[in-house]
Amino acid sequence: MSDPKQNLAEVLEKIKSAAKKSGRAASDIDLVAVSKVHGEDRIRPVLEAGHRIFGENRVQEAKGKWPALRADYPDVLLHLIGPLQTNKVKEAVALFDVIETVDREKLARKLAEEMKVQGRDLPVYIQINTGAEAQKAGVLPEEADHFIRLCREDLGLHVIGLMAIPPAQEEASLHFMLLEKIAKRNGIKKLSMGMSGDYEVAIAFGATSVRVGTAIFGARA
Ligand SMILES: *Cc1c(COP(=O)(O)O)cnc(C)c1O
Repeated sequence: MSDPKQNLAEVLEKIKSAAKKSGRAASDIDLVAVSKVHGEDRIRPVLEAGHRIFGENRVQEAKGKWPALRADYPDVLLHLIGPLQTNKVKEAVALFDVIETVDREKLARKLAEEMKVQGRDLPVYIQINTGAEAQKAGVLPEEADHFIRLCREDLGLHVIGLMAIPPAQEEASLHFMLLEKIAKRNGIKKLSMGMSGDYEVAIAFGATSVRVGTAIFGARA
C-alpha cells in the first residue's frame, strides 16, 4: 500500500479486467484518483506516472494544494466530489473542472449564476442519495427527474452524469442499478459510482467513472 505509483498501476489493471469481463472498453471508464487529505509527496508520483484526473472533497484544501501542482501539470482535471456550500461556489467554479455534487436547488442556481459570471460552463453531475440516508447529501430518487429537468432546462447547467455514494452497510450493486435506471430514463450517459471497496462491481453495473482514494494513496489519517 505504500507506493502510490505501483498502486495506481494495479488499480488501472483491475479496471481493465473488470471492463473486459463486462464486455466494455476500459477507455470508457475514467479513474478519478481521490487525493483528499494526502500531500504533494503522495500526489506527485501519480502525476509523474501520467495520471491526470483527480478528486478532492473540500474547496479550501484543494485551493491550498492544487495551484502549485497545476503549474507543473496544466492538463490536470480536478473533480469536486464533496458537499459544496453556496458561499464556496465562486472559488469552486474557479478551481474545479467538474462538479460532481450538485444536490439542491439553491446550489444549482448559484452555480449556474457563477458559471455565467466567470464564463466557465463546467460539466456537472447530480448527486443522488440512493439510500435516502438522512446524513447523506444528494437528491432523493423520487425527486431526481424533476431536479435534473430543473438543472438542465431552467438553469442551463451542463449535466453530464449522476453520482452516488451507496450506504456503507448495504449491497452496493442495488444502488448502482438504481442510479443507472435514473440516468437512463433521463438520457444521461455518465455514472460516477464505485470507490476503493467496490469499483469493480460498479464497473459491472455501468460506471463510467470510479472514485478511488485508499487503493491508490493508502489509508487516510
Ligand atoms: C473519499 C471519497 C472517495 C474515495 O474513497 P476510498 O474508499 O478511499 O476509495 C470516493 N468518493 C467520495 C465522494 C469520497 O468522499
